[in-house]
Amino acid sequence: MGKINKIPTFASLKNQKGLLMNTYNTIAETQSFVHQCRQNNLKIGFVPTMGALHQGHLSLIEKAKAENDIVIASIFVNPIQFNNKEDLQKYPRTLEKDAAMLQSIGCDAIFAPSETEMYPEPDTTVFDFGMLDKVMEGKFRPGHFNGVAVVVKRLFEIVKPDNAYFGEKDYQQLQIIKAMVAQKNLAVNIIPYPIVREADGLAMSSRNMRLTEEERTIAPFIHKTLSEAKEKAKQLSPSELTTWVLNQIQIQAIMKTEYFEIVDASTLLAITNWNDSEHAIGCIAIFLGNVRLIDNILLK
Ligand code: AMP
Repeated sequence: MGKINKIPTFASLKNQKGLLMNTYNTIAETQSFVHQCRQNNLKIGFVPTMGALHQGHLSLIEKAKAENDIVIASIFVNPIQFNNKEDLQKYPRTLEKDAAMLQSIGCDAIFAPSETEMYPEPDTTVFDFGMLDKVMEGKFRPGHFNGVAVVVKRLFEIVKPDNAYFGEKDYQQLQIIKAMVAQKNLAVNIIPYPIVREADGLAMSSRNMRLTEEERTIAPFIHKTLSEAKEKAKQLSPSELTTWVLNQIQIQAIMKTEYFEIVDASTLLAITNWNDSEHAIGCIAIFLGNVRLIDNILLK
């Protein structure tokens, strides 16, 4: 009799609602899990995160669960996408709590590598995204999107997902990932997910937990202003609307607008006339005290 290979069953790879979730810190273990999934013809959905999870992240996991056989989440605070040291240091890290949340909603595996596991040597790849990474976030956070593209490409190489899920809250990031996948011909579908908000409209973000009580009370003003802007877009030109938004935000003394731009939803270039774009989106970055928050809204 020939040797019988122990082939893992679908059930042994899958987290049947909190029963089992594999947590891996190394690339090798993760690749071995992925390999077993592939051998079993299981479709893999992937949700990359930096942890400090909230319902926004969990919604991505739930969508991934509905559309795939196996869901893998990564938790990695990627140092090379932070252009501000303090932001990196203060980024919340709550791995145990995150793992419990992922386990309870039936995520199948977590990849939570250390910095040296991901970058044994500095990665000097430089991507060319044209104007996509020069505007808005790219203008104010130089190097940020190159760091995002480097880490996501590495994660895709390790996890080899069929589908990967990204939130529209980081709208520019989503466009960058799509561009990176197209440039590198990666065999992964990029699936967007709408912004998940708190009951008062504030876009969920891991950074919200750094807001003081007073800042947290004022923070929903961002979405309130963007929602009103969507109404006003029917009467005002893009530049008039931009001025209106900037003036509104100024009402809140502790809010400082870094940028508000109305851009074409695909090229991310600023528009001067609504007719120039099929879809236009308003993107904002605000400092509320020391905490930088971003949000956006489809205006057309
Ligand atoms: P992060 O951990 O901030 O890197 O986010 C991981 C993924 O979750 C990214 O694709 C984000 O766009 C997405 N995400 C974060 N916050 C939200 C939210 N409020 N709604 C939808 N997706 C989100």
